[in-house]
Amino acid sequence: MRGLLIGRFQPFHNGHSYVIREVLKENEEIIIGIGSAQISHTLENPFTAGERVMMVSKSLYENGIKKNYYIIPIPDVNNNSLWVPHVRSLTPPFNKVYSGNTLVKRLFGEVGVKVETPPMYNREEYSGTMIRKRILNDEPWVDFVPRAVVDVINEVSGVSRLKDLAKSDRA
Ligand code: NAP
Repeated sequence: MRGLLIGRFQPFHNGHSYVIREVLKENEEIIIGIGSAQISHTLENPFTAGERVMMVSKSLYENGIKKNYYIIPIPDVNNNSLWVPHVRSLTPPFNKVYSGNTLVKRLFGEVGVKVETPPMYNREEYSGTMIRKRILNDEPWVDFVPRAVVDVINEVSGVSRLKDLAKSDRA
């Protein structure tokens, strides 16, 4: 069995890491689809697809997960009915989709693909929105993401990028 987990991973955090381990309990392989791959440098989507690929692959390595996954950036398309075939054209074949996004669940469900929402662990702390806010407000955030994600964010000067984006959004 091969499962597809789709998310924006802005940034990848410990909740995502937990979900991947859960999905791998019932699948031999996991495909991790990086959604909205074309969007970066916005307050909601600060990191590029390439940076998110680094976050995910280095975090999996840190967790001892070394070979049974594929990380595929998936750009959005301007037509929801074409999104599922678009996703299929970019990914290895899969038996089941894992997502917390209502539209994702509907689009796959309508074409008969099994969809499940995996429970997120400690949702108050492990949320992309909360972590982006904490980074912006100089509140503690490094304990909510794998060490590898801290390294990637530091490598790309992610903290100052978010702060600059906040300034330009207010301007
Ligand atoms: P999202 O709508 O950006 O995020 C959904 C929310 O669900 C986020 O707050 C996320 O938290 C949360 N979440 C993620 N996994 C969860 C889980 N297991 N349980 C509870 N909540 C969970 O969507 P997304 O799910 O991250 O990504 C979907 C991607 O599909 C997007 O990039 C979207 O653009 C793409 N898409 C594109 C089209 C199209 O191009 N036409 C159509 C459908 C979907 P975190 O922020 O903490 O991750």
